Amino acid sequence: MVQSASEQPEQGQEAVPHLLKPPGQILSTMESDGSRRWLKPKVSDGRYLRRRRIVAALLIFVFTLLPFLKYDGRPLLLLDIMNREFFVFGLRILPTDTAIMALGMVFVFLSIFWFTAVFGRVWCGWACPQTVYMEFVFRPIERWADGTWGKGGKAKGAAVPWRQVVKYGLYFVISFYLAHTFLAYFVGMDNLIKWVWRSTPFEHPWAFGIVTLVTIAMLFDFGFFREQLCIIACPYGRFQSVLLDRSSRVVSYDKARGEPRHKGRRKEMSPDLPIVGDCVDCRKCVTTCPTGIDIRDGLQLECINCAQCIDACDDVMEKIGRPQGLIHYSSQMEDEGQRFSLFRPRILIYPIVLLALVTGIVTLVMGRKSFDVAINRERGLPYQKVESDRIANTFTMHLVNRSRDDAVLTLVGVEPAEVDVKTTSDEIPIEGEKSVTAGLRAVAPASLFKDHWLPVKVTFRSDQGDERVISFRMAGP
Ligand code: SF4
Ligand code: SF4
Repeated sequence: MVQSASEQPEQGQEAVPHLLKPPGQILSTMESDGSRRWLKPKVSDGRYLRRRRIVAALLIFVFTLLPFLKYDGRPLLLLDIMNREFFVFGLRILPTDTAIMALGMVFVFLSIFWFTAVFGRVWCGWACPQTVYMEFVFRPIERWADGTWGKGGKAKGAAVPWRQVVKYGLYFVISFYLAHTFLAYFVGMDNLIKWVWRSTPFEHPWAFGIVTLVTIAMLFDFGFFREQLCIIACPYGRFQSVLLDRSSRVVSYDKARGEPRHKGRRKEMSPDLPIVGDCVDCRKCVTTCPTGIDIRDGLQLECINCAQCIDACDDVMEKIGRPQGLIHYSSQMEDEGQRFSLFRPRILIYPIVLLALVTGIVTLVMGRKSFDVAINRERGLPYQKVESDRIANTFTMHLVNRSRDDAVLTLVGVEPAEVDVKTTSDEIPIEGEKSVTAGLRAVAPASLFKDHWLPVKVTFRSDQGDERVISFRMAGP
């Protein structure tokens, strides 16, 4: 690199390599020297903010209320990992319901894909807990405590100490409360209330540990990490480029109408000035953005579709006497003058697959029996030779009573009939919604085995009249 005379090191001075200056802003949350640029977005009141406030209040209400709700004496939603059972809107799901869980997971993921293809990142800006709690709980507290902010995100005045104490105190109380609500989804509200009021943390150390960890994680997220979660950590945000298509709803700037941008109020412009666009370059759409981007640069991964820039710009347009909607909800196709259509292959195929999944889940749920039996080979010896030509295998059975009533299970059939199967006892009693473990021993003539294996089917019947046929394989020589 050729250095100009003014850049030459003076005699006796060590030459310092020049740092290349970035061509422009690389990341919305990074200063040119690489340090974090703290965002203090201004609130922009408008029709979208008012709607988002209502949605946020409803979601917070639902999140808080759900663990308290019961259906038929059971929690409406409980993910009891410790006892390996989930309650989802009246449905009790056990580890043996693998097909239902697998279809349910596929359903959730495909619904997200479909929803994103149609509505873009509306989830991020309107319903994601990160946005809801950040923008409508933690941010308002911060605005109250820190006051208004000047250019470049720097505070206009010195922080008031007592307000800072109140701010962080509130952060802690809210995070602590949210951590308890979060735990209630996994242990149930009844247990949580019992533990909080009638026991010490040492009696339930893991629950206390989870609350502590979640509280710390929330304080870190809402107090420090913030928009970085959406920009660099959230997998859903990372997948946007494949989930969106050119017809998806996105927040966009009408370049044709806005450019060339021109600082200053339009009504003050003289008629002999060159024709300019509607954008007055006030940067209100940038200073209100919670991820710090400039939507005028086009669709960006950082945009969470919160519509704050729409409200900010609509307000400016109203003041300068221009129509609202310079920034608006649109799609790339519409921006290019093409017609928006909901009837496109991607949008139509997803609902068909989703319908098939729902049908599959309903069929599986309706076809469930009142009990489950899982047969697993015992560890150690795969088979034993008994007498001269008979082979014995031993298994462990895990029997689950799904119904609320006590049940008695009996082995009523074996196929092939030459196999002699015995269980620990002829009748196996199981309490309502409980499970038991029992042994099973099968003895078969060696001549029945082919390639070391013999498939066997056993039929169990409950005293409630349900029957289940379970398959397993015997190992042989
Ligand atoms: S708020 Fe509207 S007028 Fe102001 S800079 Fe943004 S796009 Fe231009
Ligand atoms: S660009 Fe607009 S819609 Fe996107 S995150 Fe920023 S303020 Fe929200």
